[in-house]
Amino acid sequence: MATILATTNESVEATSAAIPSWRNSLKSAVRSGRRLAELLSLPLNSISARAESDFPVFVPLEYIEKMEVGNLADPLLLQVLPTVHEEATDGDVDAVGDLAAQRSPGLLQKYKSRVLALVSGRCAVHCRYCFRRHYPYDAISSGRTGIGQSIATIAADPSIQEVILSGGDPLTLTDSVLSWTLSELNKIDHLRRIRLHTRVPVVIPQRVCPEMTAWVKSSRLPVYIVMHFNHVNEFCDASAVGMRQLRAAGATLLNQSVLLTQVNDSVENLEDLCLKLVDHHILPYYLHQLDPVQGALHFGVPDVRAQELVAELQTRLPGYALPKLVREEAGKSSKTSL
Ligand SMILES: *Cc1c(COP(=O)(O)O)cnc(C)c1O
Ligand code: SF4
Repeated sequence: MATILATTNESVEATSAAIPSWRNSLKSAVRSGRRLAELLSLPLNSISARAESDFPVFVPLEYIEKMEVGNLADPLLLQVLPTVHEEATDGDVDAVGDLAAQRSPGLLQKYKSRVLALVSGRCAVHCRYCFRRHYPYDAISSGRTGIGQSIATIAADPSIQEVILSGGDPLTLTDSVLSWTLSELNKIDHLRRIRLHTRVPVVIPQRVCPEMTAWVKSSRLPVYIVMHFNHVNEFCDASAVGMRQLRAAGATLLNQSVLLTQVNDSVENLEDLCLKLVDHHILPYYLHQLDPVQGALHFGVPDVRAQELVAELQTRLPGYALPKLVREEAGKSSKTSL
């Protein structure tokens, strides 16, 4: 494990006591491949400057802590290291048809009765395989104005039962904006559920703070939180504490993973992850096939192999611990089961 966190975080905390610690973690996140390589004693030639300029590096120190120093094959490192493989030009920039699914700026609807609100353009980590790495986030007006427009659209359409807060990552917003958003959504009679898709608690476990659990707890509508753990090494003692607090606040916890070459494409890896999740009352929901987005194709696992992995996984896990293998296809009325 890397041991860089203690000293770096202390100095940050001393200067800004009033800011919640998770926001300091965002501030002190590593933003260059060179720094990432230095911290983990990796050769500088493992990094591609071109990849980095296409999609900047962003990795919180808490996440780097969980990586093995000197190991270029570390499954967490592989998710964040900008490499020459990203320079490949095949694939699409809008692989899943998000642009065509916009109902209004920042509000996507692909499926019946649920809408996806892009409430923040920010993430707490930049995952190199991300399907939204090319999304024109600048066009989203985040903050109360933008979110307010989406809420108005939702309030005017009784066919909408569920709002999914997504992004970017909704948990990069402040708890005051999130608390307001939840309370506005709770005023809409025809809504039945609120869902959040997030990776922030995976990389910064202390994001689950009293201010957050307060708004989860206050929701009249059931709150589903879909985490994004890809590998068992991402789960630590602090994650366990955070997940317990969210459950205590009344949230239902699910997880989606992306199947990624060298990161989690083995039965043992997936089994360990799923068991860890159910140990902590998180139900594995989806195992996604990679969206064929430009610069990320090297992470892909062939369908045949993916199906083999899941078939083997099924012989090892209780039914409720088995994620559903899916792919997202532009223009379809649901995810496609494989
Ligand atoms: C994946 C997705 C959803 C959620 O789909 P579920 O199958 O309900 O999890 C909703 N809207 C959009 C645009 C999506 O991409
Ligand atoms: S949207 Fe999710 S997968 Fe993509 S970079 Fe952000 S945290 Fe990573």
